[in-house]
Amino acid sequence: MIDPERLLQLVLEHAVKIEGGVVYRKYKRFRADRWYGGIATADVVGCNLRCGMCWAWRNTSFVLTAGAWMAPHEVAARLREIAKSKGFQQVRISGGEPLIAPEHLLEVIDLLSEYTFVVETNGVLINRNLAKELASRPNAVVRVSIKGATPEEFVKITMSPSFYFYRQLEALRLLIESGMRPCRDVYPAAMLGFSTEDSERRLAKALGEIHPKLPECIDVEYVILYPHVVKLMSARGLKPTRAVTPSGVPAFMI
Ligand code: SF4
Repeated sequence: MIDPERLLQLVLEHAVKIEGGVVYRKYKRFRADRWYGGIATADVVGCNLRCGMCWAWRNTSFVLTAGAWMAPHEVAARLREIAKSKGFQQVRISGGEPLIAPEHLLEVIDLLSEYTFVVETNGVLINRNLAKELASRPNAVVRVSIKGATPEEFVKITMSPSFYFYRQLEALRLLIESGMRPCRDVYPAAMLGFSTEDSERRLAKALGEIHPKLPECIDVEYVILYPHVVKLMSARGLKPTRAVTPSGVPAFMI
């Protein structure tokens, strides 16, 4: 089993530093991306999960030592520059888990208050305090990406204990209880590339028990068959039930 707490400690040791009261994280690249209709994106180093279909595993999420140290104001400046030049209204941090060392992310969100900040997170690190911090930021929209439709699928995808699947669901509950509007300020995404119709129904039921609106706004994710993702899945013995090619064409069903 892979221990997300241990991974968190490793990222904190190798890819986070505090100097003069400023929290730095490592970043690999900045780019304009097509998702969400166009979004300025920073790719951060380090994640507390090891998903077997992660598109970022080679360059950022499974990595601890790559990238350059950046303070929140430097990250915000780079994202603003991209957003301005492309006319984007949205910004995000991708490539790894942005809520590791959350003070860093919260400062970047505050520095970019003129933009919608899409917080893409696996949700595992969201506790009541962090939920309140996120909910108090009017420009934050939180997208909790659930790994699989059931605890069993979560274990298969992440090789981590099912306890953390429930932490992802709990994150949604805490964010809504903190005042975020379901399907507007906070919504679930779900990796359903290893799911069945039955497991998808189980997820919809679990989300509906948190808030009746949530099953209506699941952002469905499928495996993207980049060659390095296929390699990772093969090493982990994972076979998707649904996938798409890098250009977005449905690839196969098994
Ligand atoms: S949580 Fe996201 S970034 Fe982290 S390993 Fe899983 S898919 Fe990759």
